Amino acid sequence: MKELIRNLTAISSPSGREEPIRAFIQKELENYCDELKVDTLGNLIAVKHGGKAKLQLAAHMDEIGIIVTAIDKQGFLRFANVGGINPHRLYGQRVRFKDGTMGVIGAEKIDDIKELTLEKLFIDLGVTSEAEAKAKVGVGAMAAFDHSFVDLGHRVIAKALDDRVGCAVLIEALKRVRKPQNDLYCTFTVQEEVGLRGARTAAFDLDPDLAIAIDVTDTGDTPEARKLAMKLGAGAAIKVKDAYLITPPRVKELLTELAEKNGIPYQFEVLPFGGTDAGAIQLTKAGVPSGVISIPCRYLHSHSEMVDLNDVEAAVRLVVAAMEHPLGG
Ligand SMILES: [Zn+2]
Repeated sequence: MKELIRNLTAISSPSGREEPIRAFIQKELENYCDELKVDTLGNLIAVKHGGKAKLQLAAHMDEIGIIVTAIDKQGFLRFANVGGINPHRLYGQRVRFKDGTMGVIGAEKIDDIKELTLEKLFIDLGVTSEAEAKAKVGVGAMAAFDHSFVDLGHRVIAKALDDRVGCAVLIEALKRVRKPQNDLYCTFTVQEEVGLRGARTAAFDLDPDLAIAIDVTDTGDTPEARKLAMKLGAGAAIKVKDAYLITPPRVKELLTELAEKNGIPYQFEVLPFGGTDAGAIQLTKAGVPSGVISIPCRYLHSHSEMVDLNDVEAAVRLVVAAMEHPLGG
């Protein structure tokens, strides 16, 4: 599992540029499903047959990043965000473009940290002219952040654990499931970080009976943190509410019963902000009952996110339990 997470987080695939991560997941799953398809927006859907009801599971492949907006005479790049990024976390960070070109983020002089906006930041490719910069990177080029994986034993630090750890959970669940009792549509979605876009069209096409997203959630277990109940190491988090979804009671109860029955450690999640693919899927067509299995994650949307592998394992077991539970219909 650790190796899979390491490999998934090493890949650069910001929203709308999911080809590299999709190719990796495709290869990982080719022997573990009945059908693998890519839809119009680029979602990867691994299908495994097992029953009458359609169960959609969704984990997003994309990650936050930046897009080049302009290049100046000295070859410095100006950029905009792709997904939610905080300018205060960017100074000195490295970015990696698709062709492997690397750069570091610098900042203009400011008197007060509150003045630090994205407009005050630039990317330095180590070049000395506009022409030299343009030979490497053009306007519209996207980059992801570059940071190495750290193995802390039962916890790991990496960039893009949001939501490569969700992808890892779904891949592992599909490899482990023995007797699926539903038709499984494991959807590795695109463009979640820019507005839950891939999940929306994938769900419209599938029209599932139930959908479960697998994503990370914030925690309240660090010094002077926001008051949140979620903790690293306390199990898979069953979402009750975030800003885009109120989990229907029967979906929450189903996941809770499956966790109880299988002795899977779990906790409940109430997140006053944020959302996942489930927020978009539930509003598809006439509505889809939707829930989320979350992996608690510290330092979300930074280059060093942290998860506990015991929570990851609990999430895999809970996803497998859902796959093996007949939904009827
Ligand atoms: Zn996410």
